[in-house]
Amino acid sequence: METVKTISELRAARLRLPQPVGLVPTMGYLHEGHLTLVRAARSECASVVVSIFVNPTQFGPAEDLNSYPRDLRRDLQLLEKEGVDLVWAPEAEEMYPPGFQTWVTVEEIARPLEGSMRPGHFRGVATVVAKLFNAVQPQRAYFGQKDAQQAAVIRQMTRDLNFNLEIIVCPIVREPDGLAMSSRNTYLNPQERQAATVLYRSLSAARQAYQSGEREADRLRQVMTEVIQNEPLARLQYVSCADADTLQEITGRISGRALLSMAVFVGKTRLIDNFLIGEENHAPGY
Ligand code: AMP
Repeated sequence: METVKTISELRAARLRLPQPVGLVPTMGYLHEGHLTLVRAARSECASVVVSIFVNPTQFGPAEDLNSYPRDLRRDLQLLEKEGVDLVWAPEAEEMYPPGFQTWVTVEEIARPLEGSMRPGHFRGVATVVAKLFNAVQPQRAYFGQKDAQQAAVIRQMTRDLNFNLEIIVCPIVREPDGLAMSSRNTYLNPQERQAATVLYRSLSAARQAYQSGEREADRLRQVMTEVIQNEPLARLQYVSCADADTLQEITGRISGRALLSMAVFVGKTRLIDNFLIGEENHAPGY
């Protein structure tokens, strides 16, 4: 496994890789969720490239850029075991040199949900992913359904800017008690860690209601909200029952596929999670 930092080193190493090349973009501090993407890439591609970059432009001024967990040595050991060919771990100055002034802005689909709570977040995500795609030139790129709107934004950007690659979205990997794996789970103290199962419990309650025949989107939002409100350590930021393709909030009855999603603060840690419901239980556009 080769590890490179600069874009010129990356380009040189990329030229030596057999095709098709699969790219797995990450912010590091890897867990089983990331490794599932790596394994999917490993099984489908001749070469696997993993990028590790805590992208400053997708963090808001009051967010956790400086405290975001990092452990490159451990990440490299995990990736080596997975048979990854090339790891690209650039510095922020390499990606955003002085004078940088070009941004990728995806519109409609980036506006609701995370987009409305984290202004500028998806501009940072789309810009850095466009740069990763340009530098690595993969045939396939792997993302997690954990960040459902991110996957939808990247799909939209890929289509709109004619990136010549396939976007693959993999299911959410969870802890045994249902908590979606996340590098940010490391912020939780033991009480908060227990309370953090509330997202899964809340989504499960709404899915249960749906499976029992409830079709009113408002009612599902209410079911999710009540479960969160019953958890003293949790503070709800939003719950949503949205069209799975457009991510627009559903008013009235659910007909096709819907994305149930939420952001919840547990202590100071902001967690997100989602379930897809509806006839076809798979990721948007997948
Ligand atoms: P991150 O390092 O948090 O930016 O995540 C890198 C990629 O891993 C993104 O495409 C995430 O959606 C995906 N990912 C993160 N957590 C999970 C999880 N629990 N299950 C599946 N994919 C995940």
